[in-house]
Amino acid sequence: MPELPEVETVRRGLADRLVDFQIDQVEVCRERAIASPGGSGEFIKMLCGMHVGSWLRRGKYLMASLHHDFAQLSADSEPDPDGGWWGVHLRMTGQFQWHEAISSPCPHTRVRIWNKKGKELRFVDTRSFGQMWWVPPGNAPETIITGLQKLGPEPFSSAFNSSYLRQRLKGSKRPIKSALLDQSIVAGAGNIYTDESLFAARIRPHTPSGQLKSVELERLCDCLTEVLRVSIGAGGTTFSDFRDLEGINGNYGGQAWVYRRGGQACRICSTPIRRESLCGRGTHWCPNCQR
Ligand SMILES: [Zn+2]
Repeated sequence: MPELPEVETVRRGLADRLVDFQIDQVEVCRERAIASPGGSGEFIKMLCGMHVGSWLRRGKYLMASLHHDFAQLSADSEPDPDGGWWGVHLRMTGQFQWHEAISSPCPHTRVRIWNKKGKELRFVDTRSFGQMWWVPPGNAPETIITGLQKLGPEPFSSAFNSSYLRQRLKGSKRPIKSALLDQSIVAGAGNIYTDESLFAARIRPHTPSGQLKSVELERLCDCLTEVLRVSIGAGGTTFSDFRDLEGINGNYGGQAWVYRRGGQACRICSTPIRRESLCGRGTHWCPNCQR
């Protein structure tokens, strides 16, 4: 499943590709891809004719502002999204593809969006859990994309720090791995980057969250943001079938410390990396480095 670095990589790709993109035609190939009120009918009607503005990311959600007028969009530094918002969640396997020329869609194509020049942004999703929304102008995105309401702070924001974590995890017996996966505690981390940041912070994934000392929580905050930063720099992960807009797999993986390295030697101490299911997720750690 794409996590924060992969979604951020997709966001950057969309922001680069969709400069000066006016939506001319929309085709929804699978109704359940559209999660906003009015379904595909409303979605298609409201997106057609809109200019795509800036792309924002919140946790694993992507949102583009929509604008009626290109002149206003290019003149203002923060133009009013008078066409509302277009929201996207990739879920398990959603991915965008950019097609310069006409090509026939694969069977997993869910949504197709063209501009007047016939260039196509295609949303392909084998597992079909990905979702899109149209948010009417004047409404905060979280009124329609309700999952946004439950999100905890962004890892790179000042709100995410050790005192915040200490307060949120106080008295909790829940394993720290499971707490980090909880999007209401911190937005955007998933299985890969929780394993990697717990290794970097030398904390065992099973540790009851409430038992972590301030100094450990501080290390964990630093390690999580650092691991995410490195992966964003690598264009996301090599694991899973993640692809960016140009069809390219990320580079984070060759440098993974523990994730999917079960049975292999720890890169620090040579102890075999353990793999075990924890809270239903495959979890990787070094029994020597992480205590
Ligand atoms: Zn080790």
